Amino acid sequence: MGYSRTDTVCMIGTAGVVVTVEASVFKSGGKHADTVRMSGLPDSVVNQAQTRVRSAMANSSLRFPDKSVSVNFVPASLPTTGSAADLALAITIMTADEMVPGDRLTGAVLLAELGLDGSLRSVPGTLPALLEARRAGFATAIVSPENADEAALVDGLTVLAPRNLAALVAWLHGQADLEPAAPGRTAPAPALPDLADLRGQPRARRALEIAAAGGHHMFMVGPPGAGKTMLAERLPSILPPLTDDEAVEVTSLYSLRGRFTGGSAELIRAAPFEAPHHSMTIQALIGGGRHPGPGSLALAHRGVLFVDEAPEWRREVLDSLRQPLESGEVLVRRAESTLRYPARMLLVLAANPCPCAPTRPIECRCPPGERKRYFGRISRPLRDRIDLRIDVEAPAASAILADVADAEPSGPVAKRVALAREIAAARWSGAGESWRLNSEVPGPALRSPQWRLPAAATGTADGLLRKERITARGYDRILKLAWTLADLRGHDRPTADDIDSAAELRLGYTIT
Ligand SMILES: [Zn+2]
Repeated sequence: MGYSRTDTVCMIGTAGVVVTVEASVFKSGGKHADTVRMSGLPDSVVNQAQTRVRSAMANSSLRFPDKSVSVNFVPASLPTTGSAADLALAITIMTADEMVPGDRLTGAVLLAELGLDGSLRSVPGTLPALLEARRAGFATAIVSPENADEAALVDGLTVLAPRNLAALVAWLHGQADLEPAAPGRTAPAPALPDLADLRGQPRARRALEIAAAGGHHMFMVGPPGAGKTMLAERLPSILPPLTDDEAVEVTSLYSLRGRFTGGSAELIRAAPFEAPHHSMTIQALIGGGRHPGPGSLALAHRGVLFVDEAPEWRREVLDSLRQPLESGEVLVRRAESTLRYPARMLLVLAANPCPCAPTRPIECRCPPGERKRYFGRISRPLRDRIDLRIDVEAPAASAILADVADAEPSGPVAKRVALAREIAAARWSGAGESWRLNSEVPGPALRSPQWRLPAAATGTADGLLRKERITARGYDRILKLAWTLADLRGHDRPTADDIDSAAELRLGYTIT
């Protein structure tokens, strides 16, 4: 009887777990010969893996043991449903049967799907899986050629990427060399859409700057063609680039979603931009499904989620945004476990002014009350979480005809945003708090003695609250916005003017 073990990594949500694959191979003539038993796995998974491993071996001129094979996954409680363990499974069976020596596998983790032809195929989540392998002390990773770039993003790990099972077996026999993959690259700064492309739109530009500086969610209302999408797409260009940790975190989410299939993985440095269509299902938005992975919400983590034509979205899909907006993470409930994905992003909702969506407001043909019903499709609790609301009008003719050179590009705006963010972060951390962005500060904290503003400053907001034109939550949102305006304008604390501007930004109209 022969016994062997190798290691692979299984992903559960964003968490990697090192899994040891054990195999014992023994002669037991009769009906048990030539069977593979795997403990703790559903039959369908076992059968599919077995089919791939048998076929891959046969097509690599490798003989599958003519014996009974027992396979065990440790820990056994994990839902090892993916195909990433294929390679570990094949190699463990071969080393258990002493067809190939396993000495070269010391300190190595195996992570690849096997094609029926014996090729090594890419698997989603390679980056986060190998980050966990390195943390657990592994020195070498054996992956598919398609995943080599991505695996090489993990510092301090030797990456080997044999083309197929036969090449790996030749290396294990010491008959061939495998060239380690070159260290990973950072994506060259991408050419993000720039604010310089926009004509006019001074109010909308200002709103983008405020949203970026304080991390405030925003809602843009305007006719088709007014440039709502162009505006939203330019938000990443004024957000700070991702830090090292954030870049790894975001790139890992892209990896789990399988965005790097094709082999061109690079560390993502710019704030992501996700613009799902209104026909999107809840599952595609929050993630999960038969082959679980992050949805659009998590892919917008540290970046921007643009929800265009918000009233056209199914209400339950839109409302699935509420909990992640509060907690900064998405929970995907499954039969056996709950997966968690981070989802801290800037939400930008956009809508036409009414269902008939004329280019000029005067041409609206909607019956009275229709406009209100239309916006009513966006639930009150969701609207309450939006700090900024702006009306976007088509740029004036004079702005369109003006020289494009007049438009301020993203560069200087990004500098002002970064400075305002630094001021806010220094203030909150200086007070011993964990908040960094003004939008993260709880309302009660802003109303506490330490941060409360004099009545002379908050007069406008106090009046709106008394007249019930805003909710208590709305009041707090105005305070948060006012702190961001103060940071951008270089005020130590929000002034009456900052509060007035914040109230107008929150309500979307001029207060008289
Ligand atoms: Zn209309």
